[in-house]
Amino acid sequence: MESQPLLRIHNTLSGQKEEFAPVQPGRASIYTCGPTVYRNAHIGNLRSYLAADWLRRTLTAFGYTVSHVKNITDVGHMRQEMLERGQDKVLAAALAEGKTPQEIAEFYTKAFHDDERKLNIEPAHEFPKATENVEQMVEFVRSLESKGYAYEVEGNVYFDVNKFEGYGKLSGQLAKGLEEGARVEADPLKRDQRDFTLWKAAEPGRELKWKSPWGDGFPGWHIECSAMVLRYLGDEIDFHTGGVDNIFPHHEDEIAQSEGVLGKRHVRTWLHGQHLLVDGLKMAKSTRNTYLVSDLERRGFDPLAFRYLCATAHYRTRLNFTLRSIKAAQKGLSRLRLALRSGNGRLTKKAQREGEALRTEFWNAAADDLDIPSALAIAWRTARSRWPLEVKRDLLLDFDRLLGLDLLKTDAVPDVSSEIRTILSDRDTLRRKRSYVDADAARSTICDKGYEVRDGSKGSRALPLPAWVSDDSISSSGDVESFLEEPERVDLTVSVVAQQGCAELERCISSVRRWLGDTKSEIIVVDNGFDDDCVSFVDEVAANDTRVTVFHADHFLGSAAARNVSLRQARGRNILVIDTSVEVKGDIFSTLDAALADKTVGIVGRWGVVTNDLRSFDEADASGDVDAVEGYLMAFRREMLREVGLLDEKYRFYRHLDLDFSFAIRNRGYRSVIDVDLPVQRHDHVDWVSTPEEERERLSKRNFYRFLHKWGERKDLIASRQ
Ligand code: AMP
Ligand code: ZN
Repeated sequence: MESQPLLRIHNTLSGQKEEFAPVQPGRASIYTCGPTVYRNAHIGNLRSYLAADWLRRTLTAFGYTVSHVKNITDVGHMRQEMLERGQDKVLAAALAEGKTPQEIAEFYTKAFHDDERKLNIEPAHEFPKATENVEQMVEFVRSLESKGYAYEVEGNVYFDVNKFEGYGKLSGQLAKGLEEGARVEADPLKRDQRDFTLWKAAEPGRELKWKSPWGDGFPGWHIECSAMVLRYLGDEIDFHTGGVDNIFPHHEDEIAQSEGVLGKRHVRTWLHGQHLLVDGLKMAKSTRNTYLVSDLERRGFDPLAFRYLCATAHYRTRLNFTLRSIKAAQKGLSRLRLALRSGNGRLTKKAQREGEALRTEFWNAAADDLDIPSALAIAWRTARSRWPLEVKRDLLLDFDRLLGLDLLKTDAVPDVSSEIRTILSDRDTLRRKRSYVDADAARSTICDKGYEVRDGSKGSRALPLPAWVSDDSISSSGDVESFLEEPERVDLTVSVVAQQGCAELERCISSVRRWLGDTKSEIIVVDNGFDDDCVSFVDEVAANDTRVTVFHADHFLGSAAARNVSLRQARGRNILVIDTSVEVKGDIFSTLDAALADKTVGIVGRWGVVTNDLRSFDEADASGDVDAVEGYLMAFRREMLREVGLLDEKYRFYRHLDLDFSFAIRNRGYRSVIDVDLPVQRHDHVDWVSTPEEERERLSKRNFYRFLHKWGERKDLIASRQ
């Protein structure tokens, strides 16, 4: 690069963009908090590593010699909060899988490297393992102890937070620190609950342990990074990176440790990447919204489409991942690559000059706190330009050093069948004859067969559409049209959401169909993206029964969102929501219809609950008014949705969702009633049975508080009080 722009990077410590001034002229050092290898890295973790990669590529492009170190948190180590409780995730995973901790760590380390390679993340120059640096950690703790920053109690060593003056300067979260300390069960051995563990004594029978001056034990997580930064990059480094959740306590504690030992600043710039959300929520196993690179590949995406998606948002802003957004990214990437295969225009001085102006703009964007979205936009301007191919390619090749999108890669184009080729050439003839209507008809025939038609100067081509484009599955409830304002077409809409378990689904749908009789009705089935393959069953039912419509979600949408798909599409005067655990044993439909003819009734079902305090709910055992109708079976007039709205999609797990809906209806002044004589049978609720207990509790609790927050003060809505 001729004249280098000023490189400015945001420093979490100062809260400002700062001009980069390297510790050593011409060199730059980066330490990245690496993976904990007892599980796969999810795409959120990878977004953080991409931010570090963009930093590194920028520094390299600006001529710095970069040393990049990324640690591997392996056997014997654990998250601090787990450690405080004496639990070890690597160990636990090993036990659960019947493997040795080393085997587990090795397996996931390899998987991690594979993922990084697929995303074109340049490998760090060193990947030090925690287990290979325990001696350095012990030395580090000894040093802290001798300087008065640490104290030992019964073989445990703690960092004395009150001794370090600058504690809290990175996160500014002193108060939160106190809270965090209190949240973990109070440790009676600590002088201050904010003190954190540097070394933990091994409990009897523990296999993974190391010798130390304080007896056998193992190191804490924060000390791991402090010791390795020092060993591999020296006593002052340029950048330390991680995700925002690393700021507190991990990096705050690292500063305390490192500056405690060194007596001076250790890290110049702290760079933190904002989180990746999935479907608008924090990624968590229990929310069923974590994705791995392999999940993307399985769906036919190029892993670099994820890199492209990350390039569309600045690293300090949140990015929402949805299947829709990755589809768009995949399209964007393919189109960008394609645009680089064509160029027109002659090589003129003007084109060259304009090209160079864009080059400058591109690198200016990179230099401005890694503004990759702007850089990507400039790559697009280049691709769309009318410059000759050689100018475009020269620029894009240069840009790809930063973007890392393999822009000059030619996407593989599989063979097109002879049948398609014939239709295509017929279509070309039609076009030449200006029979555009017929030509368009030919195009749709080709598209129906799963191809995209591209017209070019040398004739047309048909490109097979990847699975993700041609499939018509839905990614959110908004993907289906809302018929709420449309007139009714039938008397009843039955809404079924396929949960886990095809047998249950089959039993439920068959029983509904058997007893519907000649009720003017429709059945809307939403396949909520579960892995078990009920797809063929519901498709078959839909093919043989015109009353049945099926929607396939391309992933688990959440309980409320899936239900909303059917509610948006419903065209019945009344709507019956039924859970797949319920089997219909007689004509329930006319009874429900009659109940809803009473306009004081807002919602009717078979099972209901009553409450005194809106916190605990008891199952009601007699017909009549209840506080809420349970979601196993509930019916209401469709027009009710116009009053209370659809279900609250924040409820991804089903619990309390039904109560929330009933209360919304009661809030409009209607009654909730049940009829215990309805001929229905409730079987095991698969969703409940198949959710592990610990997870159930977490999910239930979350929904419980969501409900409480909304309705907790509304005792006036309790039926028995009216
Ligand atoms: P871990 O393996 O949990 O130590 O996480 C590895 C890195 O990923 C850390 O730098 C975290 O801050 C980061 N990280 C965790 N979750 C997310 C997320 N949802 N989005 C972006 N980065 C994340
Ligand atoms: Zn770390």
